Amino acid sequence: MSTSVLWFRRDLRLSDHPALVEAHRAAGPTGEVVAFFCVDDRLWAPAGVNRRRFLVGSLRSLDASIGGTLVVRGGDPVDLVAKLATEVDAGEVFVSADFAPYGSRRDQRVEQRLAVDGRVLQRVGSPYAVEPGTVRNGSGQPYKVFTPFSKAWLAHGWSGSIRAPADVRWATGLAGDPWPEAQASGAALPAPGEAAAKIAARRFVDDHLSSYDEQRNDPGADATSRLSPYLKWGAIHPRQLLQKLGSSKAERTFRSELCWREFYADVLHHRPDTVRQAFNPAMAGIEVDTQATDALFLTWCEGRTGYPIVDAGMRQLAGEGWVHNRVRMLVASFLVKDLHLDWRRGAAFFMEHLVDGDLASNQHGWQWVAGSGTDASPYFRIFNPVTQGERFDPGGVYVRRWVPELAEVPDRYVHRPWDDPVGPPPSYPPRMVDHAEEREESLRRYAAVRGRGAPPS
Ligand code: FAD
Repeated sequence: MSTSVLWFRRDLRLSDHPALVEAHRAAGPTGEVVAFFCVDDRLWAPAGVNRRRFLVGSLRSLDASIGGTLVVRGGDPVDLVAKLATEVDAGEVFVSADFAPYGSRRDQRVEQRLAVDGRVLQRVGSPYAVEPGTVRNGSGQPYKVFTPFSKAWLAHGWSGSIRAPADVRWATGLAGDPWPEAQASGAALPAPGEAAAKIAARRFVDDHLSSYDEQRNDPGADATSRLSPYLKWGAIHPRQLLQKLGSSKAERTFRSELCWREFYADVLHHRPDTVRQAFNPAMAGIEVDTQATDALFLTWCEGRTGYPIVDAGMRQLAGEGWVHNRVRMLVASFLVKDLHLDWRRGAAFFMEHLVDGDLASNQHGWQWVAGSGTDASPYFRIFNPVTQGERFDPGGVYVRRWVPELAEVPDRYVHRPWDDPVGPPPSYPPRMVDHAEEREESLRRYAAVRGRGAPPS
């Protein structure tokens, strides 16, 4: 009887799981598959309470779906995987390939360690429809701009979804470590696991997909899929979503959003340094404030800036570990272009609190806003938190949900309560900075780094 190991990481599901299919095939009809998860302190420690909670819930759900056979052990994966493979005498350890900087280095080390014992790490599939590094331009170079990448990505295409094999014999009786404890957090997180992901996907397709292009920028409408935490942990694979999409405008828009995730993973794969360094080196030298900035940063973190949509976004992050995409852009822009703080500070805070925190999407989402990322001419894009609020949250539905101090402010003033003739609510903080002034300051700094005279107005 042969045994193979399936090492779960960001693929916590059974359906459409190519590595599972191959692990099952390698074990043969009478062989067993060991389901394994390693609690690696290098990933666990920085994950933040919300992501840890969601991960543990996702593992429990996976474990339940395989009859309680998931083996969870904590420590260095290089040692643990080799030890487990020896223990069960598995010739092959199957994984979904990891393309993030730490994950790909870790897998190389695991591969080398297994090879010492004559065993093999088999990478089958990945968390992406098209594996990072696959799509290249005519000169064989990676794309640096989204639109041409998305065309090539679409032209490349992806395979159809595969069903979960029904007759896997999961190995039993192997010792595991106590499961990690995730501290309670105050945030209301979504239900974890593959079944919950499928329900969320179905609900989105039935109720919101047809109007996605019209409503996706309205944070009060709750009209986006909210699938990002499930995609992060692989409770659902993007292929399973892509295959539901036709060619309507709304479906094309949703496909394009999924493509952003793939684009940023591709960019990070080619430029792992961009976790911390500017993608566009010309922007690396932009002046940022570092002295006596802790109080400013804390005010932003706590959602007390005095700008309603910014405060609503930061309070949603605290309340749900998730923020609507448009609002992520607005709060990020405020930190970088109104407060002149380093984008990495905001990105780190996001990674600590987001339940969907994903290095590629987060760091590059921040770089896009900061103007140091893949976008060609972003330096003059400075979001105005008032006009953006009035445009995308016209009745203040979103802002009132998260900033109860503004509940009674008339619609007209809900994004600029300081203009209300009766005065702003006394419990709501005054604006910490003047947006118009900081916009000018930001343009000055961008112009300086680009060696220009007057920036475009
Ligand atoms: P939908 O609108 O339903 O989109 C479907 C899926 O497409 C998302 O779940 C996501 O996987 C992908 N997607 C959509 N927009 C983007 C985008 N701009 N970039 C990359 N993928 C996208 N997304 C994360 O998953 N993790 C992060 O850590 C993260 N950090 C971000 C930080 C900043 C500053 C910004 C501006 C964006 C960030 N995003 C991040 C992207 C985006 O905000 C979220 O993916 C989206 O809000 C998730 O909500 P949803 O699932 O309802 O999205």
